[in-house]
Amino acid sequence: MFRIVGDIYDRQKLIENWEQERLLESEVAVIGSGTLAHYLLAAIAGLGIGKVKIFDNRKLTRADKKEGFLYLLESKHPPYRSKALEGMIRKINQDINVRGINWRFLYPSSTKIFEKENVIIDVTNDPISKSVVLEYGEKNNIPVILASADENSGKVYVMKDYSKVREEHLLAEYYGKRQGIIASGIIGGIICEEIRKILMPLDEEDENIEEFHFNAFSKDRFGKEEVPSFLRKEETENDLLVEKPEENPKEKRKLKDKYVFMVGAGALANFLALGLAKMGIGELNVVDYDRVDITNLNRQVLYYDSVGTKKVYALTEKLRRINRRMIIFPIAQKFTSRFDSYFRKHRPDLILDTVDNFRTRYLIQKFSYKYEIPLISGGTGPFSGQVVTYKPGETTCVNCHLDLKKGAEEEKKILEEYGCLQTLPSVVTSNLIIASVMLNEMRTILLPEIYGPPLNGVIYYNSKGRKRLSILRSSNICRCHEKYKGVK
Ligand SMILES: [Zn+2]
Repeated sequence: MFRIVGDIYDRQKLIENWEQERLLESEVAVIGSGTLAHYLLAAIAGLGIGKVKIFDNRKLTRADKKEGFLYLLESKHPPYRSKALEGMIRKINQDINVRGINWRFLYPSSTKIFEKENVIIDVTNDPISKSVVLEYGEKNNIPVILASADENSGKVYVMKDYSKVREEHLLAEYYGKRQGIIASGIIGGIICEEIRKILMPLDEEDENIEEFHFNAFSKDRFGKEEVPSFLRKEETENDLLVEKPEENPKEKRKLKDKYVFMVGAGALANFLALGLAKMGIGELNVVDYDRVDITNLNRQVLYYDSVGTKKVYALTEKLRRINRRMIIFPIAQKFTSRFDSYFRKHRPDLILDTVDNFRTRYLIQKFSYKYEIPLISGGTGPFSGQVVTYKPGETTCVNCHLDLKKGAEEEKKILEEYGCLQTLPSVVTSNLIIASVMLNEMRTILLPEIYGPPLNGVIYYNSKGRKRLSILRSSNICRCHEKYKGVK
């Protein structure tokens, strides 16, 4: 029998000054039921915020299945979207007192429904709702987070200092737009970390950001730049004013022919696989030999009912509910040098590296050199992370950036001395953010004609950084893969 030990917060309780009780006693209101709300709510559930109210007044229809991912996982069909979200969030974390409320913030009097919320988060694309909530927050001196997203961009404003309220905080430019998977993942993760900082700051430097911007078409990605610089080269000023189609059918058709190989089925992989399924990737092969453990559940949000099951099978089962057309091939094995024959036979369009040790990361890198397969490597700590995109001959490799070889040697020494690697703390937010950044960079490999060339450098996430996400560019392109030419 598989024995359940520990609790779902074990891995975040390892963090210095973390007070799980404080989060469990906190109360938040989330307004909205679109894709951004799905990611935010899943992250809130992982974090273990005790009391969550979800406000939305829209009915749940068949067409809603296109939005987010929680409606696809929910087998029941309550009449309202807020109720469907309530049901799913309760599944992800049973400790949470969650309530879906059929409500819309249309007039100042609509705020009479609020009770003792510690923070109110509006993730609609509705400026009226935002103005009502903002006024309430200002009057009652309650922190309010205003955020919106569309298919490829998003913004967050953290309102604690109401002396600086501006019209742009209502995010009217997002009105009526559809919220995309990648933008919602990045924005949802950023918001969740800001909520955590409001409810449970870990030290004096653990401060809120005032605003955060994301734009997939911007060279800076996370800057304030409004005009997509990548497009600026080819398109005229006027063309830029024409909005991009919200869901690009051509993009989906092209992704249907793509085949992705993913190493690992943990926290990063949960959000990556979810994104791949939603984006319409043709085939995903995923390798991992681990079973779902209760201490995974604070961040591996798709495994809520799968403790004891092999992760790749639990993942496959959930992905099939999200995208029935995607071919998913689970490989319940340890990733070793034996996979050489796999890569010789199959040539995936991309390898996603989501592992947590240098040894495996270096092995993945070597396969990427040898078979000249593009690689996107992501890693996280509780408050940090990094993403490297490697396209042989076009960018600098992961090893040149992060010295995997040296890391692997140090790991070996620790293993020889202690017999195992230390259990490291882990939270949902950094994993959601990094996985979403990886999905965004993935499009430069799979759809360069739309998203431009791959980024040569490292994208860093730092929860205490001024910008949260920043890019360290490299001017060099390494030739490491050439050493493997002709190697059998
Ligand atoms: Zn290199």
